[in-house]
Amino acid sequence: MKLLSAAILSSSLLLALPPTDVVNPPTSSSPAIFGFRDSGAESTVESRFLAAPEAKLAEEHLRILTQAPHMAGTVEDKATADYVAQRFRDAGLDTEIVEYKVWINYPLEISVDLTAPAGITMHGPTREHVDNDPFQDDPRVVMPFNGMSPSGDVEADVVYANYGTPEDFEKLDKLKVDVHGKIVLVRYGQNFRGVKVFVAQEHGAAGVIIYSDPADDGWKRGDKYPDGPWRPDTGVQRGSTGYMFEFPGDPTTPGVASLPSLPDAKRISPHQSAQMPKIPVTPMSYHDIWPVLQHLGGPASPREWQGALPFTYHVGPGPAKLKMHLKQDYQYRTLWDVIGRVSGSELPDEWVVAGNHRDAWVYGAVDPNSGTAAMLEAVHGVGALLKSGWKPKRTLIFGSWDGEEEGLMGSTEWVEEHESELANAAAYFNMDVAVSGPKFGASAVPSLKQFLRDVTKVVPGAKGGTVYEAWQKAAQPDAPATQSPTEAIGDSRRTPAAQVKGDVPVGDLGSGSDYTAFLQHMGVPSSDVSSSGPYGVYHSVFDNFAWFKKFGDPDFVYEQQMARVFGLQAVRMSDADVLPYDYEEYGKEIAAYLDAAQKRAQDKFGEHALDFGPVNAAAHHFESAGVKILAKQKNPPQDAARMNAALRGAERALLTPQGLPHRSWFRHVIYAPGEYTGYAAVVIPGVNEALDKGDSERARAQLAVLAAALERAARTLEGYR
Ligand SMILES: [Zn+2]
Repeated sequence: MKLLSAAILSSSLLLALPPTDVVNPPTSSSPAIFGFRDSGAESTVESRFLAAPEAKLAEEHLRILTQAPHMAGTVEDKATADYVAQRFRDAGLDTEIVEYKVWINYPLEISVDLTAPAGITMHGPTREHVDNDPFQDDPRVVMPFNGMSPSGDVEADVVYANYGTPEDFEKLDKLKVDVHGKIVLVRYGQNFRGVKVFVAQEHGAAGVIIYSDPADDGWKRGDKYPDGPWRPDTGVQRGSTGYMFEFPGDPTTPGVASLPSLPDAKRISPHQSAQMPKIPVTPMSYHDIWPVLQHLGGPASPREWQGALPFTYHVGPGPAKLKMHLKQDYQYRTLWDVIGRVSGSELPDEWVVAGNHRDAWVYGAVDPNSGTAAMLEAVHGVGALLKSGWKPKRTLIFGSWDGEEEGLMGSTEWVEEHESELANAAAYFNMDVAVSGPKFGASAVPSLKQFLRDVTKVVPGAKGGTVYEAWQKAAQPDAPATQSPTEAIGDSRRTPAAQVKGDVPVGDLGSGSDYTAFLQHMGVPSSDVSSSGPYGVYHSVFDNFAWFKKFGDPDFVYEQQMARVFGLQAVRMSDADVLPYDYEEYGKEIAAYLDAAQKRAQDKFGEHALDFGPVNAAAHHFESAGVKILAKQKNPPQDAARMNAALRGAERALLTPQGLPHRSWFRHVIYAPGEYTGYAAVVIPGVNEALDKGDSERARAQLAVLAAALERAARTLEGYR
């Protein structure tokens, strides 16, 4: 890590002086900005914005936000809300703290004991501990637990099921290992933890333990904390196991805002909620699980199931037998979203929303407060603009979401409260983890992918040049591989971005952060940005300010960079004459998704079992409508209201009112979190999940739903002439 720190240090010296190309007023020759009639004027605004965010101030925000553990619903969480609200007000935003009442658990008693074979003792659960960490001993640190797990007592033989994917359980079937009534031991990685529990429950397991294997984010990856950024022996990944792929937000109010005034009679019983797991689950460290895994008999595990502990992994069942005792304290608890707004001068009903969650499992220096600190410096930039007399055309809203960790609750409830206003929203910009290292990455709906590339072309990179140039360099095939935070948290199945433009790859949006309700419930075009690096302390007590100063961003130059990228998206979108969406790229990506699905369908059901003709024609229609309106967008008309309405309406047209099969809260026909991947996007989910199930009838019906949505979207774009 020394080399990296040295490089960051030298770049921070360069950045001590503001980059001249950005803060100097642009000349009349400023390059055209897509969506603007007067690029010169917009360029002046943007330069003023970019000059404001400061690395030193971001450091101060992060230090204050992470001084105490601040899990959702605690007094320390409320204190962070007050801090953020004050910074919003300082910048001149109209600010309120909005409360919701949601059903969540804190752990009361968690114990896991090894009851067989006799004479073997287990290490734990042990307190998370390393030498010389200044934050680990705070009594407010919550013991490791999984959000949304029921209480329960289970004693049973253990079966090891690798990452707990559907394929892993199939393999156990082939090995004739029955998981009925057993405690299933799985490792973190590859899919969302809620999916592991969901699949184990489907297979009849009685309980689940999820542990962090050193192969995935521990010593096998590199030095462990405090010598390096990777997970130490006792580090535990907390996290919600709620079935957010059914619906996110408060488990008792799908589709309805959990206002404190909402009577209990209008809520569903938590026990009937499709979001709540039915079997107990708790997380553990590799230090604690070691003797359990070591005392499994039965067949040796398939070789790719072997982790980094120094013995051959067997699958069981037994002889290792565990007794799990979980007592959860479930209550309706209060969340505090902080909402700051600047009313639009011309289009006050057209919202541009930018948000980040604030609640953390413990200190959350990387996840999520690197994002909060960067958002506060973006707000600082907006404050500088407001002081200069600037007003956004559209209403600009910043959201500091609470309860994200429990299940995207603060953002989901706010979206559900504001459905009618959000039907006109222009965009939602998300940032969760802003910085865990130097590698820039982004995900977005295809209509915003070029917009994102354009924004990064005017933001200075933390090490010189532009963010876009650094991004391009890192995206080259011979560039050294860096790990993204989503890989660290177990999302290696993130859908590879379709490279339709041969440019830097922008990923697809699945789930796992606060854009979900905006995009997948409301059809608001969304993006998510981050800068990532080696990060093994995710959701542990060690994701704290000491780790961040040593390994994340010692000089806060990436924080400054991310404040600029995140904020500039919001400033540019709120000012645009014509919405800078690119429906040509959207059309091309959908065509690529359909090609892939058609090949899968032919493999599964034979050459002519499913007719892709109509849906391919609809996709072609959508793409050509996208090409036509893009040509007109490049020459913005004086009155762009009708053009903007068509552009906004097209994404909305991709919602289907009846929702996806079995999970009607998810209404977007192009993107959803996978039922069996969780975080990773499933593209054209209705069709692809029917193919996964081998259900040709459902696939046929979903092809028709998709074709109808694409036709609607095409006609919406063509409605503007
Ligand atoms: Zn987060």
